[in-house]
Amino acid sequence: MPLSVEHQSQLLEALSRYWGYESFRPLQAESMHCVLTDKDSVVVLPTGGGKSLCYQVPAVCLDGLAVIVSPLIALMKDQVDGLKTCGVAADFINSTQTGGQRLAVANEVRAGRLKLLYISPERLVQEKTIEFLREAKIRFIAIDEAHCISEWGHDFRPEYRQLSILREQFPTIGLHAFTATATEQVRRDIARQLKLREPEVLVGNFDRPNLVYRVERRDNIPEQIRSIIDRHRNESGIVYCTSRRETEDVAAILNASGYRALPYHAGMDDYSRRENQESFINESVDIIVATVAFGMGIDKSNVRFVIHVGMPKSLENYQQESGRGGRDGLQAECCLIYSMSEFMRWKKLTEEGAAESRGPAMKSLQAMADYATGIVCRHRKLVSYFGQEYDKENCGACDLCLQEMDVVDDSLIVGQKILSSVVRQGQKFGAEYTALVLKGSKDERIRRNQHDLLSTWGLLKDQSQSTIREWIEQLAAQDFLSRVGEYNLLEVTPRGWQLLKGEITPKLVRPSETTKDERNQSRAAKVAASWEGVDRALFDTLRSLRHELSVEHDVPAYVIFTDETLRDMSRFRPSTLEGLSQIKGVGEKRLADYGEHMLSAIVEYCETSQVTPDNWPNERPTSRRSSTATPKEPSSSRSSSSSGPPAKARALQMFADGSSIEDVMEAIGRARSTTISYLCEYIRSAAILDAAPWIGTETYERVSAVASKLNTDLLKPIFDGLNGEVPYDAIHIAMECHRNRQGLDEATSE
Ligand code: ADP
Ligand code: ZN
Repeated sequence: MPLSVEHQSQLLEALSRYWGYESFRPLQAESMHCVLTDKDSVVVLPTGGGKSLCYQVPAVCLDGLAVIVSPLIALMKDQVDGLKTCGVAADFINSTQTGGQRLAVANEVRAGRLKLLYISPERLVQEKTIEFLREAKIRFIAIDEAHCISEWGHDFRPEYRQLSILREQFPTIGLHAFTATATEQVRRDIARQLKLREPEVLVGNFDRPNLVYRVERRDNIPEQIRSIIDRHRNESGIVYCTSRRETEDVAAILNASGYRALPYHAGMDDYSRRENQESFINESVDIIVATVAFGMGIDKSNVRFVIHVGMPKSLENYQQESGRGGRDGLQAECCLIYSMSEFMRWKKLTEEGAAESRGPAMKSLQAMADYATGIVCRHRKLVSYFGQEYDKENCGACDLCLQEMDVVDDSLIVGQKILSSVVRQGQKFGAEYTALVLKGSKDERIRRNQHDLLSTWGLLKDQSQSTIREWIEQLAAQDFLSRVGEYNLLEVTPRGWQLLKGEITPKLVRPSETTKDERNQSRAAKVAASWEGVDRALFDTLRSLRHELSVEHDVPAYVIFTDETLRDMSRFRPSTLEGLSQIKGVGEKRLADYGEHMLSAIVEYCETSQVTPDNWPNERPTSRRSSTATPKEPSSSRSSSSSGPPAKARALQMFADGSSIEDVMEAIGRARSTTISYLCEYIRSAAILDAAPWIGTETYERVSAVASKLNTDLLKPIFDGLNGEVPYDAIHIAMECHRNRQGLDEATSE
């Protein structure tokens, strides 16, 4: 039964009014339709797919109470905070509350004032709760994280089993199950356990096109992490490590290099752990360095990068952990830095593990290793592992499709060279040694073993040692080589012998020919594309304001406004409340609560930095809300969407040729703010140290001194620290040079 026009407009109206969104994500409308028409449903959407809205929006539209079953107390609070921020009457009942608080919530329910009530499964199935809810007018029940009901799932919780009584206790209302991870078997199990009546099963697309996947072999961890984080200055990110100690070490290294990072692992006391988590959520720090213990129950939607230092033990784990990036739909980068020794360690642990789980665990681990070393598009690999087809030829969002890696043409010959060296060495040596032989090293050990006399000695002398090492790993991952014994000695497998006979061709890639710097720059440019037209300095200002509001109101920063909303504010720079209300993600309640704050920051910024406010694109979206106030007409005719790459390329070239800001502005016909943002990009990409041509040495010195004193690179505190005497533009330019200098200092002091 299709969604009626009437239902559709009712849902859209609520979506816009409370959340400030204009359209549905895939399958949301279908799912909401099930809720409105009391048709039982099982909804499988990937993380970030927007499951919560599937029951929240109908709950707002319907009369009566929606009961939401949720396993995690921390998550309940976040969800309820989020709803309240949007102006939706919601609350929860759980063990963190006092008796008095619970009573107050119960009274709200009785009075029919609540729209959504969050509750844990064990509390819901208690007789007195059932009794109580039967008296209240309950309209439907949504079961979040529904895979917990199935033993086949990866997160079985016995208390979920008891939910099977709901069908008998509430025979007339709709039951709706939501999950992000479910194979077909789990899906069927959910429907069976909950006794759903011919449920509508909606399964979303598991691909996450906004995630950019990259894989690197472990080489120099601090440097590798820094080069990723540098693409995401002043943005939130997670670094996952496989051991507690490593989280502490990596956090210390990052802090020593001037980043703001905190560790998080199960070995810390509750208090510090909670405090570090809180700092990440309210954005006092940008980076959390954590073990897998981190993430469950955290909904932070604006995580812009997820780095894995070390290989997770299964591809399911990797998908879930990396999936915590980019839930708001904006681009996020997921980088896996692995080494094969981790794979060997997991393999050993799995082999020692319980017999019945050994098979599946081994399969997931092997899939993880294949993902890391394989040369199939990473999106395709993930999607097909989860049983879906992937139809794009080129995803445009992984290191392989972006051609950051080169496929080796003569991989059969290279493979044969490596394997025959292993054979000639008597299969008694490890990967490092083998690479040295192929490289043609005169290492003392090699001479002693007379391996410099082997026909394979120096056979790959044109390649770098690390490339040869990488190929050995790739061959091992494709099961042409295995490692045996305590010393991981290389041995040729039966498949390897087939390769030697030329019967199978391996797939080998080499790091792209471009230099590391070039690669970093082109990656940075890709990331920058999603910032097109955004005034970065204003964004930073609004972001620190959001942080202050987050601390003041004790709600997560992303609940106040998403990154996308802040970016749009910094693109369009509305100067009136009406204008502000046009921005995606600004609903009525948020407008009333935070509108004035944002507005005065935007206006102040525009004045002090001489940037034009109300920089709307030509085709401005028509007013969503049936508000009586008519928004002020856009005062600028410049379209931010037309400020495309040609203007930018021209600007970068002109700056390189020594042109002034004014000349460039004039030549490219763009606003000052856009021109400055190009200048800053130029300074960054060309690693310029001297800001003198644009702002003078004295101004630079002042900014740099305050930045060092406050130990920040956020523009707002620096602006305040200078008593507002230096305009934002100049601070922005100075800071780019300042950071380049810091980078240089670090590099030379190591
Ligand atoms: P999930 O629970 O499936 O992981 P969420 O419900 O937390 O996803 O939604 C992820 C993010 O996407 C949230 O910030 C949410 O507000 C946003 N979102 C959900 N639906 C929409 C929509 N239709 N338009 C814009 N943003 C949306
Ligand atoms: Zn790809």
